[in-house]
Amino acid sequence: PQRSERPPLTVYLASPRGFCAGVDRAIQIVELALEKYGAPVYVRHAIVHNRYVVESLEAKGAIFVEELDEIPETDAPIVFSAHGVPKAVPADARNRRMFMLDATCPLVSKVHIEAERLFDHGHEILLIGHAGHPEVVGTTGQLPPGASRSRRARTRPLLRPRTPRSSAVITQTTLSVDDTRDILAVLQTRFPDIVVPRKDDICYATTNRQDAVKRIAAQCDAMIVVGSPNSSNSLRLVEVAQRAGCPQAVLVERRSEIDWSQFENIRSLGVTAGASAPEVLVDSIIDAFAERFDVAVQTVTTAEETISFKLPRPLRDTTAA
Ligand code: SF4
Repeated sequence: PQRSERPPLTVYLASPRGFCAGVDRAIQIVELALEKYGAPVYVRHAIVHNRYVVESLEAKGAIFVEELDEIPETDAPIVFSAHGVPKAVPADARNRRMFMLDATCPLVSKVHIEAERLFDHGHEILLIGHAGHPEVVGTTGQLPPGASRSRRARTRPLLRPRTPRSSAVITQTTLSVDDTRDILAVLQTRFPDIVVPRKDDICYATTNRQDAVKRIAAQCDAMIVVGSPNSSNSLRLVEVAQRAGCPQAVLVERRSEIDWSQFENIRSLGVTAGASAPEVLVDSIIDAFAERFDVAVQTVTTAEETISFKLPRPLRDTTAA
């Protein structure tokens, strides 16, 4: 259609959105390893939960596996994903004399260290997180085998710590800030002596992306969260948008998946992206809307992010850029 025939659409672009420092570092580790050591580079689990990122790295020579025993005897580097791994994994890799590069986000490692410290101090640890998510598997895997059990509980925790006086709480880094605050409050009411983190263990990137969505949600007829269905922080952004008053929030992995019937009569659209979703996908989705609507983009910034993390030692001298 001619430009004038297209209905107007205001796009509120949430900022910050998309890549966080941990994801950026994890992808760089695979790319620099490919540059420095050549293909293949093995990666245990999706380096970050985004199909586009995984496919792009595969095209450059990365090979993704779920477990170390899928890797043949090799000198090639083995990268652990940003979500972190149970202690048994590096131990196993050392036994097999594998060359490891750990892309665990330093903010996940911080929770690992905290879990061990609390355990060493004799606390029973309650980990708030999504059962089965690789980060949760990695964090519980910092404790000796047999030290963890899984209980399902939602916002009203039904948990009964074995020893409430010496219990301590840690959390997954990509949870809903509001849900986690509620869960911590309930736990503190029921078990006043429970040790809780000063805030929670939710990372700055998760917090900032949720805040930005809350700022725009109520003025958006619809919201697109760019991200993959296995991305915990992206799924939380969809929930946050719905709860903050956006009548229709959907997760979209890529432009070709947009269901246009959902956006027929909208006049305003919120756009954000999970911490593992590259900006190129955001751009292509906005371009798709610009073909059907007369789009005016307004960026709404609620925080500036300047954080970056050091690369593992073997790759530090490789950073040409
Ligand atoms: Fe690290 Fe947070 Fe990014 Fe996860 S979302 S990689 S914890 S900064």
